[in-house]
Amino acid sequence: MRIVLLGPPGAGKGTQATILADELGVPQISTGDIFRANVGAGTELGVLAKKYMDAGDLVPDEVTVAMVEDRLAQADAANGYLLDGFPRTVAQAEALATLLDKAGQPLNRVLEIRVPDEHIVERLAARVTIVDGVETQRDDDKPETVRRRLQVYAEQTAPLVDFYSRAGLLRSIDGVGEVTEVTERALTALRSE
Ligand code: AMP
Repeated sequence: MRIVLLGPPGAGKGTQATILADELGVPQISTGDIFRANVGAGTELGVLAKKYMDAGDLVPDEVTVAMVEDRLAQADAANGYLLDGFPRTVAQAEALATLLDKAGQPLNRVLEIRVPDEHIVERLAARVTIVDGVETQRDDDKPETVRRRLQVYAEQTAPLVDFYSRAGLLRSIDGVGEVTEVTERALTALRSE
């Protein structure tokens, strides 16, 4: 199954992506994780991406699409994948469609996780990750960056809801609730005709 997960920052996309990928037996491909790994390793791509990420902006489409193209060409993606955080612009969605058309491997589903804005700000403020045993907050989870990321989502990514709805691929679920409840909704939506 080739699936795209859509949703604003803090909707629980990453959490659900990990669980769903495991459940469906496909790799989770998170562009945010790939960028963060590059930032951590100090690669050229990481240095470039960091400027945009710290500002809450999107990394340019050209760079992002080339990176995803490389990742999808790896062996573990041959039988499907769950894309988490890509595409995020209509241009990225169009590039992905062209790529997949050429390979004769169209997307099967796009799952939108819906969460009202007030929940998002709360969730991101509380979000911590453990790095080397220490609780840390992602640089881009600071309140001013979160506001920018939400604005970027509304302006550049939300139009994909319409884009995929017209393509008949979209399924939307409510992302408010316990993790297990949201996973149940997601699996039901993904398995529905
Ligand atoms: P995420 O972990 O998905 O919230 O992504 C963190 C940051 O990585 C975003 O705020 C962007 O700066 C960058 N990023 C991740 N995915 C994309 C994408 N598809 N296009 C452009 N930038 C991205």
